Amino acid sequence: MNNIAIKGDKPTREKFLPYGRQCIDQDDIDAVVSVLKGDFLTTGPMSDKLEKKVAEYVGAKYAVSISNGTAALHAACYAAGIKEGDEVIVPAMTFAASANCVLYCGGTPVFADINPETYNIDVNDIERKITDKTKAIIPVHFTGQAVDLDPILELAKKHNLIVIEDAAHALGTKYKGKHVGSISDMTEFSFHPVKTVTTGEGGMITTNSKELYDKLMLFRTHCITRDKDVIINKEEGPWYYEQLGLGYNYRITDIQCALGLSQMNKLDSFIARRKELVNMYNRELSKIDGVIIQKEEEFSDTSRHLYIMKLDLEKFNVTRREIFEALLAENIGVNVHYLPVYLHPYYQELGYEKGLCPNAEELYNSMITLPLHPNMTDEDFSDVVKAVTKVLDYYRK
Ligand SMILES: *Cc1c(COP(=O)(O)O)cnc(C)c1O
Repeated sequence: MNNIAIKGDKPTREKFLPYGRQCIDQDDIDAVVSVLKGDFLTTGPMSDKLEKKVAEYVGAKYAVSISNGTAALHAACYAAGIKEGDEVIVPAMTFAASANCVLYCGGTPVFADINPETYNIDVNDIERKITDKTKAIIPVHFTGQAVDLDPILELAKKHNLIVIEDAAHALGTKYKGKHVGSISDMTEFSFHPVKTVTTGEGGMITTNSKELYDKLMLFRTHCITRDKDVIINKEEGPWYYEQLGLGYNYRITDIQCALGLSQMNKLDSFIARRKELVNMYNRELSKIDGVIIQKEEEFSDTSRHLYIMKLDLEKFNVTRREIFEALLAENIGVNVHYLPVYLHPYYQELGYEKGLCPNAEELYNSMITLPLHPNMTDEDFSDVVKAVTKVLDYYRK
């Protein structure tokens, strides 16, 4: 790490504060240990229970637990029937998995730009990018803030498109009073340690469609089934199973699901603390010259995954990089979410060009993600504000 302690000062903190972190208590540990002592280590009763719990929480008819959020997106694209020649509209400002899942199925991601104030996908740009080949839209509830789903669902209806929400950031978020996960065709959640609740690695897809649910369940386990109603050769014996498509082993263990169940009991308290910290950030950072606060949409009751500080770089005599490095030297775990997906070398080689989504590129160049997790203390919080104030004051023109 490039250690530029400003003017040779002592760093604001002794101990590094990560940008995101899981919260694990003794009851989480006990839940995992009890599975290890039981009969089922994988895809057993805990997996069923976690599915029920998440489905009930978000108000969806069905939920499918799966090995991680990326696998959940892959399964959703499979269930949506994405194949070669199909286009799927995805925001440029997201984690690569939101677009990779389209490529896994042979489809083509088409990147839509973001709204420069809310950082969520711009519905007008979605509309502009719909063609005869468009098959689906994958809106991402970026930072946890709900995307404006109604106009997207309207476009989907008009053009006969499937909507797969990437809600990896947004477990617990409500759109116009309804939980994300209950609204469109399919919704993906992630249980990675930095996300709202964790299973180590893990994911979930919710849906209200029995047909999609059946496809997702098959895909998760090689598209292999013993279901007498769907197998082709019904005359074989009781040992018999059939593979009906090309699925994967995307199962999640019961060990992980036990952790997830225990975490779900704390979801509302995690969200409450995240909201509190974001309110504190908004209050304190809006007093600092050169900091731009993310615009909040009234329709979103946001569960708050990331806190993004955007900088008005004209006010500073250095680039984002110097400010970022100075904050790291203060032992503040800053990050950047994200490089617009199509700027990754892999996507550049596929032929996507720089300049495709100017708002996403502009945000990428001027943003810094600040630490946000439920176990952050008020003291941790004030260290971040102190460090940001110190660094920005030092570099302000
Ligand atoms: C974390 C994340 C994913 C993928 O989840 P994993 O569980 O890590 O595979 C997908 N989309 C977004 C926006 C994410 O942040």
